[in-house]
Amino acid sequence: KASIHRICSGQVILDLATAVKELVENSLDAGATSIEVKLKEHGGDAIEVSDNGSGVSSDNYQVFFLSLDLFGLTLKYHTSKLSDFSDLQSLTSFGFRGEALSSLCSLADVSIHTRTKEDETGTRISYNRAGLIVSKETAARQVGTTVTVSKLFSPLPVRHKEFLRNVRREYSRMIAILQAYALISKNVRLVCTNLVGKSSRSTILRTQGGSVRENIVTIFGPKTMACLDPPGSGSGRGSSDRQFFFVNGRPVDLPKFSKLLNELYKSFNSQQYPMAVLNFRLPTTAYDVNVTPDKRKLFLHSESSFMDGLRNALGNLYAPNKY
Ligand code: ADP
Ligand code: MG
Repeated sequence: KASIHRICSGQVILDLATAVKELVENSLDAGATSIEVKLKEHGGDAIEVSDNGSGVSSDNYQVFFLSLDLFGLTLKYHTSKLSDFSDLQSLTSFGFRGEALSSLCSLADVSIHTRTKEDETGTRISYNRAGLIVSKETAARQVGTTVTVSKLFSPLPVRHKEFLRNVRREYSRMIAILQAYALISKNVRLVCTNLVGKSSRSTILRTQGGSVRENIVTIFGPKTMACLDPPGSGSGRGSSDRQFFFVNGRPVDLPKFSKLLNELYKSFNSQQYPMAVLNFRLPTTAYDVNVTPDKRKLFLHSESSFMDGLRNALGNLYAPNKY
């Protein structure tokens, strides 16, 4: 427990994008093959993520928000995914800190509706700000979990006001992050819809969980494929908001690499930004994902050789005769 505490720090939920990201990662970690994100008022009113994953077992209902101070050791966080600090090296799940749901509880009204395959029926539970169960009732559902987060940031009036004022911008960033998970998920159907006022629900994203190529076509349209294959050819739109980087399937921000990619690309092509979907396969010992709470930033142990390798590979790709 002490070691779990050691890797926990700060809030994970910074904005709409990280809230949705954490919920979708939990669904992926639970082995879901179908995930539906339903927003109300672009997420300003409510976020609901439903999956057909393993469900939350009853011994995890209470503890995953437990906040206890024992001999100066805070056991605020519970995760079912990490039992030993040394596991962190070999960890393949997205979550391991056990702080996403407890953070969400402190920032919003949270309820879950869940059922495991061992359960005879579903259970609906709602939590208070401290993450304690305030109600629990039986409610039929299929195996899986729905987490509902309403009135995000309402306990922080200033942040809440800012959130509602900028909700469209936060919403765009959230879509970009959702696109990253949709692109890389080969066996997961991902749907995102939004409901505004009394109008009908609109679909923002829908993938079938095909190959990465199929996912690219479903998300960005068939023309996009033309500009990826071979790289740099075709007239599909490339732009900086269409660059997706992954390390071993985990969506990450690689700002230095993105800069290098854009510079190299510009020197070989007239278009300023290439579209890119790049998944780097690296040994888990080559990097740390535990640098920022949202795990989007990586610490590469030998960054300069990584960058050199990329420079050569990209050079070969864009101008094979020059290298
Ligand atoms: P972490 O993902 O780091 O373990 P979270 O706070 O995100 O921590 O989730 C806490 C725990 O709640 C998870 O370890 C998992 O056991 C359970 N959980 C959360 N969401 C789901 C879900 N969609 N399906 C199954 N279990 C879930
Ligand atoms: Mg998680």
